This record gives sequence, structure tokens and C-alpha cells, in this order.
Amino acid sequence: MKKLIAANWKMNGQSAWASKPEQLFDLLGKIIPDRSQILICPPSVYLQQVAKNAHKYGMNAGAQNCHSENSGAFTGEISANMAADCEADYIICGHSERRAMFGDTDATVKAKADSVITSAMGAIICVGETLDQRESGEANSTIESQLRASTPEASTALNTVIAYEPIWAIGTGKTATLEDIAQMHAHIRAVYSDMFGEKSAQDLCIQYGGSVKPANAKDILSTDGVDGALVGGASLNMEDFAKIVQAA
Ligand code: PEP
Repeated sequence: MKKLIAANWKMNGQSAWASKPEQLFDLLGKIIPDRSQILICPPSVYLQQVAKNAHKYGMNAGAQNCHSENSGAFTGEISANMAADCEADYIICGHSERRAMFGDTDATVKAKADSVITSAMGAIICVGETLDQRESGEANSTIESQLRASTPEASTALNTVIAYEPIWAIGTGKTATLEDIAQMHAHIRAVYSDMFGEKSAQDLCIQYGGSVKPANAKDILSTDGVDGALVGGASLNMEDFAKIVQAA
């Protein structure tokens, strides 16, 4: 399986950043490494421009969030359908910042992911524990309950990616140990296997996210069960992001 290396720009960028896929392609020596699939998730207002350019250079593009309904009186929101119409390939669902700051619950994440799948894109469903939960030995149970409640029945390994992002590692410079990452990815695969069968679980792409940088990317991406990375801060600098892609 190719490693899915995703850039989550969060609320950063401007229209000139639409040329970033070309810059990245140049930094990679005009070759997308065989083992990587690159995904760029800009703010929605730039999605269409970024998607057009990403596709030109053999990359994918995605939105960072969507509403679960197709249309309606939801001021300020965008639907999965609209993202698909802007040529998105994926949508991130339930990022911990959305869960913490914008009221996303497991139930709304599940509804959003369902709508992403219905719109024929890949849903990247984020799960992650807080530091308190980890320190009190509740990391496994927290992730299991998020996974069970946030993953729609229509999920398959073809339309779903799970991003394991320990909340305490996001934007903090702290990363989980390689042992903890391997253990949690195995746990996620086991829970997914229980929900959707062993074959689907084997084929499932599970990304790690949380302070992935050029310096730690190779170790993290070669850890057992890690099929990609969801990269925040380091994806804002194309030189750094290119190094992470190359580490894969
Ligand atoms: C993220 O926002 O998904 C993330 C992993 O951020 P960072 O890489 O900055 O920790």
C-alpha cells in the first residue's frame, strides 16, 4: 500500500498557495515517489484551485471538514457534495480541533463521514486521546469508543482512512513513542476488523498525526501498521513537507 501523506493546512494560506502542488513537485525532482500518495487539504475557499493543480501533478486534494447534509440553511457550512464538485478526493472528518472547538461529536463525525462516502470520496476519520486519558490508562478504550461511534456502516478500506492523532501530540512538538504508535495502530486495526472483517482491516489505511516533522518522519512511517501521516505544522513549508514525502 502507498503511504498516504496528507497536508492539513488548517486556516492558513492564500490564493497564491494554489501553486504549492507545482512547487512540491519541483522539490521532489518532478517525480512523485512510488511509495507515496500525496494529499493536500487547504481551506475550503481554495479547494477548487488547489485540487486542479494537485491533480495536474498526480496529487490528491481534500477538504478539512464538511456538513452532513447536502444543502440547506446552514450558514457558513459546505457539504461533501460541494467539495466533490470542487474536485476533492477526501474530506477530513472529526479532527480534534473540530471536536474541541466546533462541537463535532462522534455522532456528527459519523454523519459527515457517511456523507463523504455517499459523495464518492474518501473519509479521513480522526481519533485521538487526551494526555489525561493516556496517563490514566484509558487510551485504548477512548480510541475504541470513538472508532465504533464515528465510523459509518458504509465504511470500507476503499472509502475510509483512520487518522490516529493523540491530541497531546498535535502542534506541540511531542510525538508518541514508536512503540505506542505501533500498539495503537494494531488496536485500531483489531477494532476495525471486529466491525468490518479481517480483510477490510488488513487493507485499511491508518495514518499517524501529531508533530510529524522531517526529523522523525522516517521512523514514524516505517513503524508497524503506519500507512501514512496527517501533517499539520510541517505541511505549511513545502521543503519540510517534501522531506516527509521522501521519508515514506
Ligand atoms: C494535525 O493538525 O492534524 C496535526 C497533526 O498537526 P501537527 O502536525 O502540527 O501536529
